[in-house]
Amino acid sequence: MKTIELDFQNVAYIASAGLRGLMIGQKTANAKGGQMTLKDVTKVYNTVVLDRLSLHVDRGEFLFVTGKSGSGKSTLIRLLTMETAATEGQILVDGRDLLKIKKREIPVYRRSLGIVFQDMKLLEDRTVFENLAFVREVIYGRRRDTSQRVASMLSFLGLSTLHKRYPQQLSGGEKQKIVLARALMNDPAILLADEPTGNLDPGASAEVMDLFELVHRRWMTVLVATHDLAQAGRIGHRRVELAGDV
Ligand code: ADP
Ligand code: MG
Repeated sequence: MKTIELDFQNVAYIASAGLRGLMIGQKTANAKGGQMTLKDVTKVYNTVVLDRLSLHVDRGEFLFVTGKSGSGKSTLIRLLTMETAATEGQILVDGRDLLKIKKREIPVYRRSLGIVFQDMKLLEDRTVFENLAFVREVIYGRRRDTSQRVASMLSFLGLSTLHKRYPQQLSGGEKQKIVLARALMNDPAILLADEPTGNLDPGASAEVMDLFELVHRRWMTVLVATHDLAQAGRIGHRRVELAGDV
């Protein structure tokens, strides 16, 4: 709770300072968030993991996908990130039919998303600031505004004090917050997270989810897959439960 209030002060500050184009605050199509539609999606590995799943995630929505271990939560995320393809059915992400995206276009597609997994790696030999700047430079090339964008992002998320730390100097919760910040450096309209609090204690989990909320409020579509019902029970968000056999 405390974190959120602090962050709102940052938002107010940023808004009054008129820093245009600050990631989630910017007035582009991104500001509305993206949408995703699954139509009768079936995924078969050795067994049927997803069975004619239809789901629409609207712009600016925050959706939790829950379900027991093995129910297909990660599979759903991997379908959306195109790490794997549906056996049957159609997936539309912001109007793009994933079936029509060619293999060589997948990296570009993926870069349009914000992606957070459990235990994602940061570059150990770079500071928090450098980790974030690196992502932006990979995507947009060297630009004069990189430092400012990284600073704005850290400030927006209430993480400015961590900017000079190396990953090994961060707690698990802090690491995941930086992983989230990094996932936002490409100005995605959609944020996909698979068990983002999977390895954190309840306190740290709540703080990380508070940041997801903050990001969502700036009109980004967020989909979080989690088996953590304490997190998924947060008020005001739709929850879809996958019914697996396990
Ligand atoms: P969850 O994230 O809900 O725990 P997953 O999507 O990881 O579930 O897995 C759903 C089911 O699909 C499990 O039975 C798992 O063993 C199976 N599965 C996942 N990925 C693969 C794969 N690459 N090859 C074969 N089976 C897989
Ligand atoms: Mg999983």
